[in-house]
Amino acid sequence: MAHKKLLMQPRKKIALVAHDNRKEHLLEWARFNKGLLSHHQLYATGTTGKLIEDELGLKVVKLKSGPLGGDQQVGAKIADGEIDFLIFFWDPLEPHPHDPDVKALLRIAVVWNIPVACDRSTADFMISSPLMSVEYERLLPDYEGYLGRMKT
Ligand code: PGA
Repeated sequence: MAHKKLLMQPRKKIALVAHDNRKEHLLEWARFNKGLLSHHQLYATGTTGKLIEDELGLKVVKLKSGPLGGDQQVGAKIADGEIDFLIFFWDPLEPHPHDPDVKALLRIAVVWNIPVACDRSTADFMISSPLMSVEYERLLPDYEGYLGRMKT
């Protein structure tokens, strides 16, 4: 399959999402990395975003709460190229009413080849990468070619 490239700017568009049991972990991580995060544009699902704004004073574009559609909004923004980086601390020990949305978000992140961290150690490695502060050419499968082949 052919590929095309999408340029990620040095100022990354980062989405932050945490389930209730993992919000404290995400907050601790974000507090520790506040200086680094302040160089980027932040998005979050509703409750996660409010916590980050209130406790860290960082500006966050707040979407709907996850169970009310926030995860799907993040996914739509990934597909539209408006979000290019995902920190998603989902809860591995409890079921949630919006589990299908969680799966859909993780899937769409892979479709669009964006970096995803679901735990603190991955988030630590990602945020400290030299690629965070430079342009990065994200490779994408040529989905237009794919769609063209399906036309009759
Ligand atoms: P919340 O949503 O930030 O509004 O709690 C997160 C989620 O449950 O996906």
